[in-house]
Amino acid sequence: MNKTELRQLALDLRKQNKEFQVLHSQVTQQVADRFYQARQRFFEGLANKPKKKKPHRYLSLVYPQSGWKLSDIREVGQGKNKKKKARLYLSKIGFFNLIIHRELPLERVSQVCVKLYPSGRIYVIFTVEEPESQEQQSENPKKAVGVDLGITRLVTLSDGCFLENPKPLERSLDRIRVLQRSLSRKRFLSKNWLKTKIRLAKQHEHVRDFRRDLFFKLGFLLAQEYDLLALEDLDTEGLIQKGVTRTRRMRLYDSSFSELRRCLEWVFLKRGKTVLAVSACNTSRECFLCGRINQSLTLEDRVFHCPHCGFTLDRDLNASLVLLKRAGWVPPAVACGASPNTSPTLPRVKEEARWGCEAGSPAL
Ligand SMILES: [Zn+2]
Repeated sequence: MNKTELRQLALDLRKQNKEFQVLHSQVTQQVADRFYQARQRFFEGLANKPKKKKPHRYLSLVYPQSGWKLSDIREVGQGKNKKKKARLYLSKIGFFNLIIHRELPLERVSQVCVKLYPSGRIYVIFTVEEPESQEQQSENPKKAVGVDLGITRLVTLSDGCFLENPKPLERSLDRIRVLQRSLSRKRFLSKNWLKTKIRLAKQHEHVRDFRRDLFFKLGFLLAQEYDLLALEDLDTEGLIQKGVTRTRRMRLYDSSFSELRRCLEWVFLKRGKTVLAVSACNTSRECFLCGRINQSLTLEDRVFHCPHCGFTLDRDLNASLVLLKRAGWVPPAVACGASPNTSPTLPRVKEEARWGCEAGSPAL
């Protein structure tokens, strides 16, 4: 069946079945569109085979063109508490009171998506068509920085700044455990079960929101300062599977490197800046100065010490410098075998080496 036939099928089913008529007709058609897209992605090898979605997991509805109306846009509150509110009418569902947190050109809205989160919060997403931004990539980025990702320090920059890993999941884990245990003791689908389920979902959403907020703030900070990021091209899934202890695996999940990378890439792209993904092979074992591999480095070693040339530096800082070098930013003036004393880049590195050893490095 092609797209049109699928859409027609959805409409026919809606006509036959009273239950489906509580949906706006275009929303029904959009469900068919979603199935078509999922199938198409499967045929192109981009996704797994589409599965049947259970009703309680189908949490969003899309109004493609019509069926919604925004009215009564007003500003409430004063000073810090100033908010923009509006009333949204969705056909066959009813009225919603919205808090508009961003300006949007109403005449260019192409679709409206209503999304229900397991905690009961509802988000309404207005998709706006924007003309392709003509922002050009800055041709020769002036300031580049290498970014090493890690568990103890979430981010280490090659200029020595770092951000401790706040471990959002680990911090909420006690609360989540208590809620999960109390949920499992409630009678399935009872009123108390539902209440606990919502509280648990809220806790999980808090963790997720905390993370995204942090990542975007970090992205904006970095984008103010730098034109190019050299990130490692991590295989996070593989990393997690290789994780020996449960704690390590959990902390890897908690750090969500892929999400962090997506956020940074988005922020940088929006400003016409670049994020380079550099091969992550042996980044923490390679010596920044001589480029040889330190095989004996274990996960516990926080300080990198090169057995070949005697170079000593903080482990994460060394890795971020290696990343920057791989991105082609630090001139590889120090070739293998060169005596470190004659190298022109040494003063800077030495400075940084001293810097890395000092405990009081400025955190971000
Ligand atoms: Zn070395």
